[in-house]
Amino acid sequence: MKPYMPTAFDFDPDERGHFGKFGGRYVPETLMPILIELDQVYKQYRFDQTFWNEVNALYQDYVGRPSPLYKAQNISDEIGAEVYLKREDLNHTGAHKVNNTIAQGLLAKRMGKTKIIAETGAGQHGVATATIAALMGLECEVFMGAKDVERQQLNVFRMKLLGAKVHAVESGSKTLKDAMNDAIRHWVTHARDTFYVIGTAAGPHPYPLMVRDFQAIISYEAKLQLLEQTNKIPDYVIACIGGGSNALGMFAHFIEEDKTECIGIEAGGKGLQSGEHGASLALGKPGVLHGQLSYLLQTNDGQVEEAYSISAGLDYPGIGPEHSYLMEQGKVIYDYVTDDEAMDAFVWLSRTEGIVPAFESAHAIAYLKKIPKETIKGKTIIISLSGRGDKDMIQAMELLKL
Ligand SMILES: *Cc1c(COP(=O)(O)O)cnc(C)c1O
Repeated sequence: MKPYMPTAFDFDPDERGHFGKFGGRYVPETLMPILIELDQVYKQYRFDQTFWNEVNALYQDYVGRPSPLYKAQNISDEIGAEVYLKREDLNHTGAHKVNNTIAQGLLAKRMGKTKIIAETGAGQHGVATATIAALMGLECEVFMGAKDVERQQLNVFRMKLLGAKVHAVESGSKTLKDAMNDAIRHWVTHARDTFYVIGTAAGPHPYPLMVRDFQAIISYEAKLQLLEQTNKIPDYVIACIGGGSNALGMFAHFIEEDKTECIGIEAGGKGLQSGEHGASLALGKPGVLHGQLSYLLQTNDGQVEEAYSISAGLDYPGIGPEHSYLMEQGKVIYDYVTDDEAMDAFVWLSRTEGIVPAFESAHAIAYLKKIPKETIKGKTIIISLSGRGDKDMIQAMELLKL
C-alpha cells in the first residue's frame, strides 16, 4: 500500500476555517496569533513528503498500521449483508486516537515546542497523548474533569505511569467540556513552549481540518483494502460520533463516491425524549463552544447543556463543525443509537465474532440492527471499529448480569 498523505477535498474549509457557516476561530484575541501560526505551519507540512515519511514510519512500526479490514462472516450471515470491520481497535493504545496524537506530536516537535497539553474525557485521548509524549520526549500535562478523574482511575494511573501530569478540573460540571476550557486557558499563557493536542475534529481552525486529515488514513486504507479483497466500493460506511474524528476519518474517502452512503451515529443515551443523550445534531442548535460554531446541545437561552451517554467517549455536547456542514449539505446521514441498543451490540459482537468492541464503537455496530433488514440485504458495509472494549470491562461487569 502506498504510504498515506492527506488529500485536498472539495469540502475542505476556507482560509479562515469555515465549512459553510460552521467552524471558524471564535477565540480570545490573545489566541489568534497562535492559531494563525499553527495554521501556517500546518499548511507547510500538510503535503510535505519528509514530514509524512516520519508519520508513516511510526504508523507502521509503532501503531501497527495498516489496520486490518476484516470480513465479519458470522455477522454477515446473520443479517444477510457483507459486513467488514475496519479494525482501529487493534492499534497501539486500543483506538483510532493515536493516529492523531502521533501526527500532532511530530508537528509540535517541528515547531520546537517542548511541552504538550491535552484535554480528555474518559481518558483515551489523554492516554494516547501521554504515550506519544513519552515516545517523543515531550513534557505532558492532561486536563481532565474532576468527576472523570474519579470515574476513570485506571486511565489516570496509566497517564501517570507514562510520565504525564494530570490536572483534575474542578470548575463547571467537572467533565470534558470544562477540561477543554481549562486546557485552552492554560495554552493562552504558555503557548511559547507548549503545543495543544486536541483529541477530536473540533475546536478552532486549523484543528478540525488537521484532525480529519490525520484520521482520514482510516478510509484511505479501507477503500484500498476493500477494492483489493472484493473489487467493490461499499454501499454504506458507518461510524459512531463523539466529536466526530473517527467518523470523518471513515467518511473522507467515500463522501464523494456516488454509490456510498455515509452514516454517522450519535449517542442516543436513554432516548432522545429523556433529555439524557449526546445527540448534538439531532437535537442541538448552532452555537459557539471551544472556539468553533457548530451544532450544540443548549438551553433556549444558550446555556450549554450536559451530554450523556453510557460511553464516556460520546458524551460531548458539541460536534466537529464539518459534520454540521455535511448534515446541512445532505452529504451524510445522521442517526442515533441508545445505550440499551449499544449494550446489546456489545454482547452480540463479542459472541458472534469474538471481538469485544469499545462502548463507543458498539453504537456503530448496533446500527446494523436498526436499519431495516430489506434495506441492507446483500449490501456491502464497512463499519469503523474505533476501539477495543478493554477500558469498558469494569463498567460492563456492573451492567451485565452474566
Ligand atoms: C474517543 C473515542 C470515540 C469518539 O471520538 P470521535 O472523535 O468521535 O471519534 C469513539 N470511539 C472510541 C473508541 C474512542 O476512544
